Amino acid sequence: MNFLDPSPARHRTIPIQDARERYVAPDVQLLPQHAEDRSPDYMGPVQDALDRPWHDLRISVTDQCNFRCRYCMPKEVFGRDYPFLPHSALLSFDEIAHLVATAVPLGVRKVRLTGGEPLLRKHLEQLIATLAAQAEARAVPLNIAMTSNGSLLATKAAALRSAGLGRITVSLDALDERIFQQMNDADVSVATVLRGIDAALQAGFERVKVNVVLRRGWNEDQIVPLARHFLGMPVSLRFIEFMDVGQSNGWTMAHVVPGAEILQRLQREFHLTPLAPAAKGETARRWAYQELSTPTSTVQTEIGLINSVTQAFCGDCNRARITADGQLFTCLFAQSGVNLLPYLRGGDATTQPLGRLLRAVWSQRTDRYSEVRKEVNVKARANKAEMNYLGG
Ligand code: SAM
Ligand code: SF4
Ligand code: SF4
Repeated sequence: MNFLDPSPARHRTIPIQDARERYVAPDVQLLPQHAEDRSPDYMGPVQDALDRPWHDLRISVTDQCNFRCRYCMPKEVFGRDYPFLPHSALLSFDEIAHLVATAVPLGVRKVRLTGGEPLLRKHLEQLIATLAAQAEARAVPLNIAMTSNGSLLATKAAALRSAGLGRITVSLDALDERIFQQMNDADVSVATVLRGIDAALQAGFERVKVNVVLRRGWNEDQIVPLARHFLGMPVSLRFIEFMDVGQSNGWTMAHVVPGAEILQRLQREFHLTPLAPAAKGETARRWAYQELSTPTSTVQTEIGLINSVTQAFCGDCNRARITADGQLFTCLFAQSGVNLLPYLRGGDATTQPLGRLLRAVWSQRTDRYSEVRKEVNVKARANKAEMNYLGG
């Protein structure tokens, strides 16, 4: 493992504009037919141009983070002078709740709060309570989830659960202290994150999902120790191929640990039983696993592989992302988003115009970046938005 290899990120200059100037598409011009659309009713499930329904909305509640994961927010780029969004630019909880209320009639049934680190956003449990109450009042089954680095979870898990958070995903890239701290680059210990996972289980989350991003040369030898550590616990482990999100993480194909290799490493140590997909559009291929020698536990621990690079799943992609400042992105690898702010802040904050805009954006969507990654000229995607801004 060599964390000191020079990577392109180390030579990048610090952007002087904040994300609002870099990634915002000229909104209405993008959707000429929307300007003509005066239909009063935008309701009903919407499908995109490739017949994919809209089901999942990921909401970034902040672009800031207390980690500096080298594959996401390397310190060389996200340093002291990095122009994070000012607080006044962040969507308020009321604006987010309005957006969700408008998206649900279009088919959205899952909302994931993310960031940056979502637990840095003060009083996040109030937003969760509002979203849960709103769904209950309208008798809509809305699944409210969150992805967190776990560093602040030990103190917040109980409040999040009682506010109505349904599912929680915690990111943990290594069990080995040195490797973990070198990857998060923020001196947060493995024990802190493990305490957060335990607190979540104690707070009443039936399962905790644990995300592991694998980056060649850094943490592939952590696959088996992580699987062994969580064996027998109500945990769903997700091994994720390192992706070429943003411009700062120095990604090359050589850094990707392919899912096929992850599977081989696991099969050498464990007995794996394939699990059927739990839902359409599921990104992970899943297995239940047990020790080869002593299959004892009654609690099913599960492993999933998210092979986003080597086995693209754009065909079923039902996710949109909203940035902390209200830009709607229909693909993780998009270069710009559609500005929803005029529809959410001041002016006409009623449901119909926003609903019609959302319908127009989703129904025109043709994104399938991971399927065409090899064909597209990577330089043509030179201004891809960063993960902390988009929300993972
Ligand atoms: N800060 C929170 C966390 O780390 O869980 C939430 C935001 S983070 C951007 C969401 C997920 O994206 C994390 O599980 C993280 O490991 C993953 N991620 C970040 N950069 C990635 C990359 N380049 N490739 C694959 N996954 C990545
Ligand atoms: Fe922060 Fe999450 Fe990115 Fe790590 S992966 S830097 S914890 S936003
Ligand atoms: Fe969805 Fe874009 Fe990822 Fe394909 S590349 S799965 S369209 S977010």
